[in-house]
Amino acid sequence: MGNPKAFINIPRKNAGYRPINERIYDFGEVEQTLNREDRKLQASRCMDCGIPFCHWACPLGNKMPEWQDLIYKGHWKEGIEILHETNNFPDFTGRICPAPCEKSCVLALHDAPVTIRENEAAVTEVAFIEGMIKACPPKTRSGKKVAVIGSGPAGLAAAQQLNRKGHLVTIFEKDNGLGGLMRYGIPNFKLNKNIIDRRLEQLSEEGIIFKPNTEVGKDISGSEIMKNFDAVCIAIGAGHPRDITPEGRDLKGIHFAMEFLSQQNQVIMGENVDESTLISAKDKHVLVIGGGDTGSDCVGTSIRQGAVKVTQIEIMPMPPADKNPDTPWPFYPNILKTSSSHQEGCERKWSLNTNKFVGKNGQLTEVLVEEVEWTKDETGRWNMKLTGKTDVIKADLVFLALGFIHPVHEGLLTELGVEFDGRGNVAIDKTSQSNVKKVFATGDAAMGASLVVRAIASGRKVAEDIHSSL
Ligand SMILES: Cc1cc2nc3c(=O)[nH]c(=O)nc-3n(C[C@H](O)[C@H](O)[C@H](O)COP(=O)(O)OP(=O)(O)OC[C@H]3O[C@@H](n4cnc5c(N)ncnc54)[C@H](O)[C@@H]3O)c2cc1C
Ligand code: SF4
Repeated sequence: MGNPKAFINIPRKNAGYRPINERIYDFGEVEQTLNREDRKLQASRCMDCGIPFCHWACPLGNKMPEWQDLIYKGHWKEGIEILHETNNFPDFTGRICPAPCEKSCVLALHDAPVTIRENEAAVTEVAFIEGMIKACPPKTRSGKKVAVIGSGPAGLAAAQQLNRKGHLVTIFEKDNGLGGLMRYGIPNFKLNKNIIDRRLEQLSEEGIIFKPNTEVGKDISGSEIMKNFDAVCIAIGAGHPRDITPEGRDLKGIHFAMEFLSQQNQVIMGENVDESTLISAKDKHVLVIGGGDTGSDCVGTSIRQGAVKVTQIEIMPMPPADKNPDTPWPFYPNILKTSSSHQEGCERKWSLNTNKFVGKNGQLTEVLVEEVEWTKDETGRWNMKLTGKTDVIKADLVFLALGFIHPVHEGLLTELGVEFDGRGNVAIDKTSQSNVKKVFATGDAAMGASLVVRAIASGRKVAEDIHSSL
């Protein structure tokens, strides 16, 4: 801790977003960057606490005080090295992590926390620009082969860790592009795809073999994989979307969020999309059902496509704007989150149930909603009651952003005969192993839909477990 008074004298400074009237006309990243001197000042605000709660809150256990100090002193190379010890892809998390670390920063108690997430992105950018991030292929090979099925953050982290231990890793991916939801779900305005590409280059140079356009269970059988590899890592994500079935659900104009988001990402990447299936929000009244991150991404994408109006509804009540006594520091606060997409112009409503989709000639025209009341019982469980107060929302397009239930069970998982836990995720033991010998699982496929930071942490853990078993 080079500057013990910085946290008193230097205020938090966010890099901020590009102006709204500029950014809604393109899909470029909305977040800006600070110059290096300002970034060093921001890093200097870290108090080097005796008990660093930020480190405890980060699912990867990133060592914040150490690398904040290195940034402050301009020791970028040592900074990225210490960050890479715990995080394979700080360039991803530095952009899209909800930063539980910052919510637990001791400064957050009475002041504004250290800009940990932005600092993480910044140190990685300096490292890439100055050629500090290089391929680290293993010196020797173990002679063991591992198949990783799925190329999301969990699969990529597992593959890099296993490869560095000397095992020969092949990643099988059903899609054309690699990166999982980071490529086909998360919009470019949050994470530009060249950020994924430069990491893939590094992984490839390290000796990892990629097999895109190869769905295991369809293009290649699970049994063939079992025969040819010493261990198999299932990293297929949680692709089964949650649905609702009010009257009118089959009307034209109602889509799962991922249909819309992945199409937009495919168009930007220049991939072939059948024009007859293209979903366009241009000149439409859009209703997004679901108040989370995926819903917010539909809002930002609809605005960029030229929607007339975008409304987002959520069945849960509006969370408090500032502090929430249910989730006190140092826990992750359940408070109102206003994303860059919300700021771009969207009406948000809470405590609304979707009662009915209404249409004309088979095409959606409006949605009937009803206010709900939430009360907590003595065990702390929320109970919902319909109030009878109804409303009508004009909508030509609805995006269902209601989360994901579990991985897709049909195909690969049925063929392998893996068992599921109570929530439908692949059931694993403490060593990440499923009921089938030498078959492991990681990321959303094993945890349920979560976050990139948790997927990377889970990928690192499964790699340790597979390595021990080999
Ligand atoms: C729209 C959206 C926005 C999000 N925004 C954020 C955010 O801002 N911040 C954040 O932290 N998290 C966010 N998330 C969550 C995050 O993307 C996921 O938690 C994370 O990607 C999970 O990683 P994973 O590797 O487990 O699975 P995934 O990323 O889902 O990757 C699984 C991969 O497996 C492939 N696959 C599936 N079956 C097979 C098969 N049989 N054979 C071969 N390949 C197969 C899939 O095609 C996919 O590429 C978002 C999610 C969505 C949907
Ligand atoms: S990965 Fe997320 S929680 Fe961990 S240090 Fe980075 S921003 Fe914070």
